[in-house]
Amino acid sequence: MALLVITDDCTDCDACIEPCPNDAISIIEGLYIINKDLCTECVGHHEDPQCVEVCPSDCILPDPDNEETPEELQAKYESLQSAA
Ligand code: SF4
Repeated sequence: MALLVITDDCTDCDACIEPCPNDAISIIEGLYIINKDLCTECVGHHEDPQCVEVCPSDCILPDPDNEETPEELQAKYESLQSAA
């Protein structure tokens, strides 16, 4: 699996912000950005990435430059939980 990236097809609709269980999506200088340190691809919370599920523009795609294994995503989830 690969972490996710929001493409230029984003229409700034805001639909992805609230469903993210890790508060990983923010708006920086008008662009929607997924914080790779916080995104677990929803591992630990949901079966599928919630931002992808709700995006009406289908603009949240895998990022082949940021591959993480299910084990790495699970470890990140547990680290985030212990830090909360
Ligand atoms: Fe947030 Fe899940 Fe999308 Fe990652 S995949 S940005 S954790 S909603």
